Amino acid sequence: MVNAGKRSNMKALLLPQIVNLADNSQPLQLAELPDPVPRDNEILIRISACGVCHTELDEIEGRTPPPHLPVVLGHQIVGRVVDVGVFVTRFYGGERVGVAWIHSACGECAYCLSGRENLCAHFRATGRDVHGGYAEYITVSEEFAYRLPAAFSDEEAAPLLCAGAIGYRSLMLTGLHDGQTLGLTGFGASAHLVLQMAQRRFPKSQVFVFARSEAEREFARELGAAWTGPTEAESPVPLDAIIDTTPVWTPVVEALKNLAPGGRLVINAIRKEAADQAVLTRLDYARDLWQEKEIKSVANVTRHDVSEFLLIAAEIPIKPQVEIYELAEANRALVELKQRQVRGAKVLIID
Ligand SMILES: [Zn+2]
Ligand SMILES: [Zn+2]
Repeated sequence: MVNAGKRSNMKALLLPQIVNLADNSQPLQLAELPDPVPRDNEILIRISACGVCHTELDEIEGRTPPPHLPVVLGHQIVGRVVDVGVFVTRFYGGERVGVAWIHSACGECAYCLSGRENLCAHFRATGRDVHGGYAEYITVSEEFAYRLPAAFSDEEAAPLLCAGAIGYRSLMLTGLHDGQTLGLTGFGASAHLVLQMAQRRFPKSQVFVFARSEAEREFARELGAAWTGPTEAESPVPLDAIIDTTPVWTPVVEALKNLAPGGRLVINAIRKEAADQAVLTRLDYARDLWQEKEIKSVANVTRHDVSEFLLIAAEIPIKPQVEIYELAEANRALVELKQRQVRGAKVLIID
């Protein structure tokens, strides 16, 4: 037990204020915080790995601002249980667990009661509404923690908790049937997992990948994409569904022309950046929207998404490609993510 009687301090990276990453490449500051203490229904986790998600950029730059600052970011958390509250029954000390973006929901509203806790008005996010995983310890209700398949190392398991789980939710929201064509626009942490998932879940479906850089396109071909091209390309065949994982608008507009009649574009992004928003005026109703084309966004995740995805990921098995950083290198990881220097998923190791 870490706390064994006396309190001590943990290392954490704090976001003290909203900044523009283009002007400030050191948004997070190393600090000491009191070790968190688990409440009666909570577990205390010693964190070993935390994934770096694009949502952190949206928090740092204020597109989805944390309600209280300073805050510890990070919501793809892997670690071991080191203390439990008196009412905890699901976990014991030493067990490896994960924590995802969903830190809590009210459990009582119509959304929560119908399996849509991701849409709960009281949804609270790990690493935004409460302190997250860019730190040595975190507490969470035992109801919002997950056992992790042994097939994955700590650093492999981390990106499964958001990039993977939200990618899974996105893929399910496409409504795709086996044999139908799937497009992915953007090829970062989430899309490289979705491609592997789609190949297993829809073995007769071909996957078409649109990405800005040749390095991303080459990576997609290595993982089995049937075709790759730049963001603006015309796909060789109409696509029944497309998942957008980019932070901007141009890929949305460019994707719509490639949708087959009745096709659906799923936007997997918590917020979009404003810089290229003017391209929306280029939307051509006949070409881009008519023929019953649909656009749907993805919001958050449910615990069911995370649990089910972890089982599927272990069964396939999905192999996340990770780039490792020390906790103290988090600012560099974030800047590289902003500059879209990405091959797979970025993960912080905390020791
Ligand atoms: Zn995330
Ligand atoms: Zn609710």
